[in-house]
Amino acid sequence: MIRVTSDNSIFSLSTEAAPVARISSGDGLVLETADCFSGQVRSPDDAPSSVDWSHINPATGPVYVEGAEPGDVLSVFIERIEVAPRGVMAVSASFGVLRERFAGMSFQIVPIAEGAARVSGADVPVRPMIGVIGVAPAGDPVPCGSPGAHGGNMDTRLIGEGATLYLPVFAPGGLLSAGDLHAAMGDGEICGTGIEVAGTVTLRVDVRRDLRLENPIVETAEVVATIASAATLDEAADLATRDMADLLISRLELSAADATMLMSAAGQLQVSQVVDPLKTARFALPKAIIAHYGRALV
Ligand code: CA
Ligand code: ZN
Repeated sequence: MIRVTSDNSIFSLSTEAAPVARISSGDGLVLETADCFSGQVRSPDDAPSSVDWSHINPATGPVYVEGAEPGDVLSVFIERIEVAPRGVMAVSASFGVLRERFAGMSFQIVPIAEGAARVSGADVPVRPMIGVIGVAPAGDPVPCGSPGAHGGNMDTRLIGEGATLYLPVFAPGGLLSAGDLHAAMGDGEICGTGIEVAGTVTLRVDVRRDLRLENPIVETAEVVATIASAATLDEAADLATRDMADLLISRLELSAADATMLMSAAGQLQVSQVVDPLKTARFALPKAIIAHYGRALV
């Protein structure tokens, strides 16, 4: 299996980055990733001024997927996420919902062992997820700290082990990259970080030509969720809701009225993150409900 080390990293997703590896549809892929601080924060006493802020949010890649063309979809199955035994969190006067409560920036080092992460004296269950995963966007490069239609910094906790992420392809080969692992993160990511951690992700990537997407979709054991990012949470929520309705209408052949009522009865409009340059929301529909129609939603 192709393995890409974390020194093969980029700070923007773009068509300009040269591929560091090439895989075929159906191949497995292992990406080693640094944490979102590029490993620069090692102690709570580290001064923010000692951190090179131009090296934040690295993503390992990009990987060229043979045969993927604009208009296709990359199906990325997340087989395994292994995280390092030490994570880091931060609060700052310059990011996070509660930033006005902080004068500068402070860090907490988070020990991770036996399925638990020790945060602020409490044991938080480890639920590894990928903060940044995406393809090269259409148009200008997008910094890895931003989410969008191409994926990127979606900070969506459903993007974890056992999930499949569907990403619209905008450039030949897709140019897949990932990084910014979190040992755990709550919806909203309110302080501006999850439990930021280095690690290794094992993926299997397929090219889908039978699906057209405007924005990413994640499928877990329980739900299918449309993911959308926009300047405000309201706009992101509208977009995710519209995408799910469109999917139900096109894939399950429901009427607009039936799709809308089903979503209102059984769907969950959820917040992914509110702290990145664009906000991210998702609309999750239980697979047990979708199963009633006897066809695949994605
Ligand atoms: Ca992130
Ligand atoms: Zn992160």
